Amino acid sequence: MYRNQNGILYNMNYAQVSSVAVDPIEKKPLFHFYPGTSVYSLGSWGCNFHCQHCQNWQISCPDGEESWRDSREILPEAAIEEAKRQGCRGIAWTYNEPSVWFEYTLDSAKLAKKNNLYTAYVTNGYLTPEALDIIGPYLDAWRVDLKGFNDKLYRDLAKITHWEGILEVAERAKNKWYMHVEVVTNILPDMNDDETQLTGIARWIHDKLGELTPWHITRSYPQYRMLDMQATPLETLERAYEIGRKAGLKFIYFGNVPGYKEHTVCYACGREVVKRYGYDTEVVGLRGSKCKFCGAELNFRV
Ligand code: SF4
Repeated sequence: MYRNQNGILYNMNYAQVSSVAVDPIEKKPLFHFYPGTSVYSLGSWGCNFHCQHCQNWQISCPDGEESWRDSREILPEAAIEEAKRQGCRGIAWTYNEPSVWFEYTLDSAKLAKKNNLYTAYVTNGYLTPEALDIIGPYLDAWRVDLKGFNDKLYRDLAKITHWEGILEVAERAKNKWYMHVEVVTNILPDMNDDETQLTGIARWIHDKLGELTPWHITRSYPQYRMLDMQATPLETLERAYEIGRKAGLKFIYFGNVPGYKEHTVCYACGREVVKRYGYDTEVVGLRGSKCKFCGAELNFRV
């Protein structure tokens, strides 16, 4: 998405949209961030990873500029206008990795904040602290994938090294820029479902982002270059859930398992505070960021 022409770096995909939709914020997934609201969601082309199981590989790993023929240009001003016209509370860059059309997301995020819209990055988290510091003042949510917890996993799955930078940047998003952070781990049988990695992820979330940080553990299905893998067994998700509980996490959600561990239950009084049925969301027990029944802090932004 960037090209060096005679020593000048050009961004090739500014405002080039591959996918656009009005989504429930829960679809990102962001469960503790303006629950029940709609978010104007935009994706472009390309990724700085090449995950073997990518669900969006047609747009994230496009095969030359030929694949871009379906692009639609939506300039930042038009995106913000459309988000407001469609009744969205915010805007998210998602579907592919937002940092590969960084300049566009930066311009759009600045404009969104001027228009009282929330902003969310749905990201693999692989960018520099310097890049984060440029866009940090204009982002409200950092929905980051943590795909595993060792070099081999990131090398085999995503073809990258130095994955630990993802941890550093996520901590910075929370501590320096006060973003709301939620973490997703797509559980892949025999790749990242061992006790060591799952414990490493859960403990890191607990110790560095806090026990109230939501962890979404999602079921994988055969995709792209991993068509021969099996779907993640439910028992594996249950095991990951127990590991997360043992590490002290208060909010662990299943993904891609409709009707299963989707509600938010207050850890202090045991009452349901947000009910979710697929992407239908009903807020029944929140007062601001807290449980309305017992007053416990639940780390919601509303
Ligand atoms: S980081 Fe996400 S979008 Fe990029 S290749 Fe991996 S799964 Fe696909």
